[in-house]
Amino acid sequence: MAENLNLFTSTQEVIREALNKLGYDESMYDLLKEPLRMLNVRIPVKMDDGTTKVFTGFRAQHNDAVGPTKGGVRFHPMVSEEEVKALSMWMTLKCGIVDLPYGGGKGGVICDPRQMSMGEVERLSRGYVRSISQFVGPTKDIPAPDVFTNAQIMAWMMDEYSRIDEFNSPGFITGKPIVLGGSQGRDRATAEGVTIVIQEAAKKRGLNIEGARIVIQGFGNAGSFLAKFLHDLGAKVIGISDAHGALHDPEGLDIDYLLDRRDSFGTVTNLFENTISNRELLELECDILVPAAIENQITADNAYDIKASIVVEAANGPTTAEATKILAERGILLVPDVLASAGGVTVSYFEWVQNNQGYYWTEEEVREKLYRKMVDAFENVYTTATTRNINMRLAAYMVGVRRTAEASRFRGWV
Ligand code: GLU
Repeated sequence: MAENLNLFTSTQEVIREALNKLGYDESMYDLLKEPLRMLNVRIPVKMDDGTTKVFTGFRAQHNDAVGPTKGGVRFHPMVSEEEVKALSMWMTLKCGIVDLPYGGGKGGVICDPRQMSMGEVERLSRGYVRSISQFVGPTKDIPAPDVFTNAQIMAWMMDEYSRIDEFNSPGFITGKPIVLGGSQGRDRATAEGVTIVIQEAAKKRGLNIEGARIVIQGFGNAGSFLAKFLHDLGAKVIGISDAHGALHDPEGLDIDYLLDRRDSFGTVTNLFENTISNRELLELECDILVPAAIENQITADNAYDIKASIVVEAANGPTTAEATKILAERGILLVPDVLASAGGVTVSYFEWVQNNQGYYWTEEEVREKLYRKMVDAFENVYTTATTRNINMRLAAYMVGVRRTAEASRFRGWV
């Protein structure tokens, strides 16, 4: 039988299993198996050449029993309604794992910002906000950056929302530039969170980060900061990749040089002749493998060839259900996406809290609070996995879905 590569249905399967283990019946699964609300919008945008192009966008709100929904907006040609739905469910799980008072949300627009001018991206960002404005807001649903969206796009979106709302509304969106109410440390938060869980996972395996051989697939926001942090901790980053290819040096790559040369979409390997394929990268001899690019990278096809003893998912959905089982059988410690990449939304929450109270924290305060959240979350998931003798993904889903299930029950929804 072919493997299930559908992120939406494979997420549903693990949610069902997690609810089952928590003692909930089918009616709770029926409530949580897809978003409560799914907006489907079409956004006309004036292009630079004078024509009008109509883009398709989505906003999914999975469940708001715990609090307002929260999650990023991605601008990517491969965005689909199903993907946005699955991603909103993962946001519920992430928020549950790091214990934030939110449910999950997610947005996306089918477009390729790499082929668009700044002006076109600005008009699209503003158009997207206009088309969803009635359904979002600081106490309803709070967007943030995701794939190919950034602080500048958040600023345009916040400005558009503030005009519609006729208020200055910094708490409408997170991931803003610092001068507009962004938080210290938000841009690096996902990578910092991943670094913290890598250190915790290494401790469990008695592995010293200093000198550990690390392979990172992806050199975007998460992958590039991560390479820097691990390099600064004394680890040897021996492999990295982007959408075009991968680089390998068993002695450790010159990370500072690569960071300096990468473009704003994370491309750098095109500058080199000696590249290896993405598949070869994943199968390199190393201690820790971090898929930080796209989904379905570790499958039944290559899971037996992974040499790392720890796999930390910085991307969303890089390992299939089948591969998750194979890695667990092989004794490889897998830190799942919903735990590993929760640092971004955690600092988004800190940003929203600071916006609501109008009082701003130092970088040190943000870092300490993020550290506490990530370490507690890791410990909670790890203990659930070991005491129940289940894999880390199922354990993370159990921890992640519990609060939303309980809140839904208290509200009388199930
Ligand atoms: N897009 C990020 C994520 O998937 C951040 C979401 C947020 O900050 O709300 O976790």
